[in-house]
Amino acid sequence: MRCTPEARAAALRDIDDRNLRRRRTPAEDGRVNFCSNDYLGLARDPAVAAAMAEAAQRHGAGSGASHLVSGHGAEHEMLEQELAEFTGRARALVFSTGYMANLGVLAAFAGRTDLLLADELNHASLIDAARLVRSPRNHWYAHGDAAAARALLDAHAASSATADAAAEAGAFIVTDGVFSMDGDLAPLPELAAAAQAHQAWLVVDDAHGLGVVGATGRGCCEHFGLDARAVPVLIGTFGKALGTFGAFVAGDDDVIELLIQRARTYIYTTALPPPVAAATRRALRIVREEPWRREALQDRIAQFRDGAARRGLAVMPSSTPIQPLVLGSETAALTASHRLAEAGYRVTAIRPPTVPAGTARLRITLSAAHTPQQVEGLLASLEAAVS
Ligand SMILES: *Cc1c(COP(=O)(O)O)cnc(C)c1O
Repeated sequence: MRCTPEARAAALRDIDDRNLRRRRTPAEDGRVNFCSNDYLGLARDPAVAAAMAEAAQRHGAGSGASHLVSGHGAEHEMLEQELAEFTGRARALVFSTGYMANLGVLAAFAGRTDLLLADELNHASLIDAARLVRSPRNHWYAHGDAAAARALLDAHAASSATADAAAEAGAFIVTDGVFSMDGDLAPLPELAAAAQAHQAWLVVDDAHGLGVVGATGRGCCEHFGLDARAVPVLIGTFGKALGTFGAFVAGDDDVIELLIQRARTYIYTTALPPPVAAATRRALRIVREEPWRREALQDRIAQFRDGAARRGLAVMPSSTPIQPLVLGSETAALTASHRLAEAGYRVTAIRPPTVPAGTARLRITLSAAHTPQQVEGLLASLEAAVS
């Protein structure tokens, strides 16, 4: 694109012509929010906010440097130990964002000669991470298709056996745990079996599973009973159920040690502010000690799904707080979103390229902080908004 006012205006006109202009509305717009990722109501929890304020008094607002220079403090260290314990892994490493964790992991472990297999509906940050690796052997397998991933690994092994150059090449399966726009779970046991059969890495981004999925909220690995051997690289984020900001990678000692040595998005960035680490520790404690939040969330999910079925609303099959209603065209999704806004509910229309063309949708998310009355109100308005 040329640096001219005309070129910029034309680019924006093109976005408008396709009904793809994205707009920001203030988070505090007074509407009941049914599109945040604050599944347990921790983003505005007074105890979490107090932990942040107290740590700010004690440690200051910022970390002052990257982790390897002088930014790594006691709050980070304790948070990492607690995350390791929580996920049942030997060690955890705090990253500044999930986006950076995903870029860092793949760039640290995957090389240009490695085979990289990724679910076609993976989060944008995993897509970008795969692009960064630039392996000519990147493959996107059909959503949730573990058999396809396995077949690609089998073929890779067969060809590596004959080609010397590829003998050392590794392979990666990379997937969301809970898919962020569909709410379904990846077939992790099958992917883990395929990966283990070929000494391939299984990298799971459990941003939406952590705190929510599994009997005690430890995520998709708990749900499926998968340890660090089955899922050697587990990524989680703090900006979803934990209600704060940041991310981590959990794995065995050497996985984490290699990341400290090699992950450029870990090394060359300022460490998370200590108050954010302190708030995240408090949130993690609430996840452990207050199972009622997960129970309330499950009640709201069941209530929403029952109500939607009774009203003939075809929400996608999902057992998680992410309950998408696919409407197809960008216009249909935008219109429904505007009608819901008029009725007092905030549900953003999700459009391509965030989701595949023709599957624009309302991505409704539920939270333990919602009341049954709010869910009833949403259902009634939803029925009117899409009719
Ligand atoms: C939100 C999200 C991320 C990005 O995490 P941030 O900490 O917000 O950068 C990565 N992966 C998935 C699946 C996500 O939903």
